Amino acid sequence: MATPGGPRPGNAPPNYNPNALANNMQNLQINQQQSSNVGGTAHRPPNTSPFGQQPPPFTGSRPGPIPPGVFARGPMPPSNPAQTTLPPNMVPTRPTGPPPGSRPPPFASRPPPPGALPSPITGTAAPPNSGAGPRPGPFSFSPLTSGPSAPPQMSSHGQVSNGPPAFGPGMAQSGPRFPPAMGGMPRPSGGPPQSPPVLSSGPSSQPLQVRPSFGSPPAGVSSSIGQLAPPFSTPSQAPPFSAPSPAPPFSASPQNMPPPPGSSPFSPPVPGVLHSSGSPFGMQTWPPQQQQQQQVAPPPLIPGAMQKQQMFGMPPGQPPLPNQSMSLGQTGQSKIDPNQIPRLSTSSSVILHETRHDNQANPPPPATSEYIVKDTGNCSPRYIRCTINQIPCTVDLLSTSAMQLALLVQPLALPHPSEEPIQVVDFGESGPVRCSRCKGYINPFMKFIDQGRRFICNFCGFTDETPRDYHCNLGPDGRRRDADERPELCRGTVEFIASKEYMVREPMPAVFFFLIDVSMNAIQTGATAAACSAISQVISDLPEGPRTMVGIATFDSTIHFYNLKRALQQPLMLIVPDVQDVYTPLESDVIVQLAECRQHLEILLESIPTMFQNNRIADSAFGAAVKAAFLAMKNTGGKLLVFQSVLPSTGIGSLSAREADGRSNISAGEKEAHKLLQPVDKTLKTMAIEFAEYQVCVDLFITTQTYVDIASLSVVPKTTGGQVYYYYPFSALSDAAKLYNDLRWNVMRPQGFEAVMRVRCSQGIQVQEYSGNFCKRIPTDVDLPAIDCDKTIMVSLKHDDKLQEGSECAFQCALLYTTVYGQRRIRVSTLSLPCTNMLSNLFRSADLDTQFACILKQAANEIPSGPLAQVRDQATNACINILYSYRKFCATVSSSGQLILPEALKLLPLYTLALLKSNGLRTDGRIDDRSFWMNYVSPLPTPLVIPLVYPRMIAIHELDEKELELDDSIIPTSIPLSSEHISDDGIYLLENGQDCLIYVGASVQQNVLQQLFGISSVEEISNQFILEQYDNQLSKKLNAIVNEIRRQRCSYLRLKLCKKGDSSGMMFFSYMVEDKTPSGLSYVEYLIHIHRQIQSKMT
Ligand SMILES: [Zn+2]
Repeated sequence: MATPGGPRPGNAPPNYNPNALANNMQNLQINQQQSSNVGGTAHRPPNTSPFGQQPPPFTGSRPGPIPPGVFARGPMPPSNPAQTTLPPNMVPTRPTGPPPGSRPPPFASRPPPPGALPSPITGTAAPPNSGAGPRPGPFSFSPLTSGPSAPPQMSSHGQVSNGPPAFGPGMAQSGPRFPPAMGGMPRPSGGPPQSPPVLSSGPSSQPLQVRPSFGSPPAGVSSSIGQLAPPFSTPSQAPPFSAPSPAPPFSASPQNMPPPPGSSPFSPPVPGVLHSSGSPFGMQTWPPQQQQQQQVAPPPLIPGAMQKQQMFGMPPGQPPLPNQSMSLGQTGQSKIDPNQIPRLSTSSSVILHETRHDNQANPPPPATSEYIVKDTGNCSPRYIRCTINQIPCTVDLLSTSAMQLALLVQPLALPHPSEEPIQVVDFGESGPVRCSRCKGYINPFMKFIDQGRRFICNFCGFTDETPRDYHCNLGPDGRRRDADERPELCRGTVEFIASKEYMVREPMPAVFFFLIDVSMNAIQTGATAAACSAISQVISDLPEGPRTMVGIATFDSTIHFYNLKRALQQPLMLIVPDVQDVYTPLESDVIVQLAECRQHLEILLESIPTMFQNNRIADSAFGAAVKAAFLAMKNTGGKLLVFQSVLPSTGIGSLSAREADGRSNISAGEKEAHKLLQPVDKTLKTMAIEFAEYQVCVDLFITTQTYVDIASLSVVPKTTGGQVYYYYPFSALSDAAKLYNDLRWNVMRPQGFEAVMRVRCSQGIQVQEYSGNFCKRIPTDVDLPAIDCDKTIMVSLKHDDKLQEGSECAFQCALLYTTVYGQRRIRVSTLSLPCTNMLSNLFRSADLDTQFACILKQAANEIPSGPLAQVRDQATNACINILYSYRKFCATVSSSGQLILPEALKLLPLYTLALLKSNGLRTDGRIDDRSFWMNYVSPLPTPLVIPLVYPRMIAIHELDEKELELDDSIIPTSIPLSSEHISDDGIYLLENGQDCLIYVGASVQQNVLQQLFGISSVEEISNQFILEQYDNQLSKKLNAIVNEIRRQRCSYLRLKLCKKGDSSGMMFFSYMVEDKTPSGLSYVEYLIHIHRQIQSKMT
């Protein structure tokens, strides 16, 4: 092309010069900044930091805030509840996919000769630099300045907020649904939005207004103070857990089958133990403490196991700890009874969990179990879990236990549909009550004294005056008389409406920018078409606020923006040729209100694969494209969704195929392999930090068939609060559905923007380190350009003082964020746990799932910094040290020939062994696979950690033998991961939250193959598999199971059909982690190894 950087022919002004375009673009950016500065950078007053004395999250670092007044928003959010909730049920009512009828593609295929393009691109639109004079501010033409976006609706007393819920009831409560993306793209069927559980009772007179954040629509709230009484204020009302369940979240099967009646994953619960749709791993029940005491039973067959003896930290008379012991002789396996080996237990009951009982913290159920939480003062374990549910008073006690003290924080976790919504509290202009010293937020554990006139902070111990309008007398029990009516005084989690002081600018709009690789490889593998199709369908699922904005760009060796302005008849392409020094067209042209450009966008997405179908440009300017898109989003922030198919090869941030270099030099490769898991240089990291400063979050969808250096690329999502999706080897046939569903959940799930998070602890404990996907500019806070319900942050803790036995230690996570509807909120979760001086209490209250999640995340963090063998040894040693401590100080068995495992941690060896055999720590994996694993693990929620290393396996062929009614307990009991359980005439499904392998034995009956897969012999199994539903019970049941697993995991799962004797079969058997492998021990051997290590430490 003569002018590779020019706009598409037809638009070039006379004497067009691409460099002039570039220069003008840069000038325009300079102008924008200046105009922004005229608008005034609202520096936060020094005393208004939402997080205490630290620098405010955005001050100063955000040049170019939007000029005040440009967004005509009142203090109240949009008033139309229909637009402000996001129930999935709304989706089917809107058209999906490309518009009907065939439209002429607006662009010719690329690369066209100059002047050869058809008329669509001609037209009156001038190139973005054509305006010579001073240009108005970037948003001055924006429809955001007008229209019904946010009429102020301040109620007369100013205390009632009538904004919409943060997330629609269906949205937050029902998890994802995964309609298929293939074929006819049937939309999920769903009923009308269901009312959220209504739990309010009689009138109440509390002055502060309260409403459920996920609950009832805001209409009418302002007029009826007191009608929204806190749901728990009158215990005589209907039981809190009796709310009807919403529509099943996952309602579409690949054949568009409606969910079978009664198959709702959350059928109406009844108090007590419920039947479940199958908890991920059944349940390892952890009953409340009282019951736990009753369950302390001596393990069978172990003579002398319960001898009484004085234990470290355990007073005489203390009941012995529950544990499991096995006779393990030095000689090995002969003495091991396979029935004694600790295994995952399965149970189909749902646990009802009250977070506090009798003014004491209740240890939570296992993260992998299905449970329903009633928040009675501590936050739900979905939001914060601690590795130990009692806090050691001293650092010495903690080190003796060899356990780690850490929190796993998931501040926006999806609640169970039967749980009460989080309540939103509005303190008006003064903002929430906080400790004036440490800035901790008011919570149920702050103690009011002096007739309520003062309160003592449970974090720093400081005594504050109660604000005059917050005063209330104390009752005979010493609590405030209004404590049960105020969520912030009786609930572990509340959401505060953020007052002005929590904003440095107007809350940002929801901005979604799609960036699509159209280089030769992406086009030829179908990745571009799959991405465009997925985006096109997802457009209708974007949060539909009036402030939702979208943009789109494509890239190969150059970057192509599209002007989506309504005034233009067809989208106009604007090319950015300079991939070293990137600029961007005017953002007001390329990021447009969704409502304004929906049609343009759909036409464009339909045309892109055709436009570029003959593209022969193999180079990819990934870094430059991401940077250019960022520049377009800089003024608002938002989500940048990148679809990338090849190794970035040109422009800033280009990479090389260093994996191949490593392979060709074996000796160096062995020693230096871990360096391939580090980013190659700091270019992308530096860019990512800048993105984070401007609240731009990058998600990366890698649809590739080659090495793309995920270790380098993933720095961008990791630093900006995003994530990596990985489709390798990408198949347009079998991966398109997953790509679509991943993207759909990405934009639909509960999420927030421009967030800052901090965890506070009581005196004596402090945060040592945060780990996860975020950017950190000051030690105490993490910056999250975006955060969603799936993101978890590990917070490791350390002692800085002694704690008092008998006191409680509190942790509080405060997340300041903007909802997708532009409301500023502070979600505050508080967890208060007892302190103990007794080692036995630590083991008794250890949380296996959380502890293992921490071990796994730490291992992932270690992988890039040292040889793999070292990381593997560290994981095993962590396990050994914990069990050794228990054996030495707590167990009461005298025989050294026995392996004693604390009951709460009895599966730790199994999980650790599984970790050693995982994609991340096994020695034979691909570099990109390991990099992806590390990235996947980094923000992984606790409930997904166990299945990642120890997947769930079930027998499919046996489904036929059981009753074929599609009842509540959809998912059958899982099978241990050992090949001795795999028979040749069986079919097995194995899933780990990401992938779902279906293994077909060599001698499966033909009619079963026909029923399930429509094939007549195992030989017909193909590499590319799409699960279809046939008209028979077995097939329906398999589909129902897969759909239920998808719902539980919030993941569509990559399906693969496996058979014996080829690579797919080997992949399946590589998950049999209890087997002995050439490079790994069997489960029994590993137990013996652990036991010997403990014995040698004992002597
Ligand atoms: Zn304080």
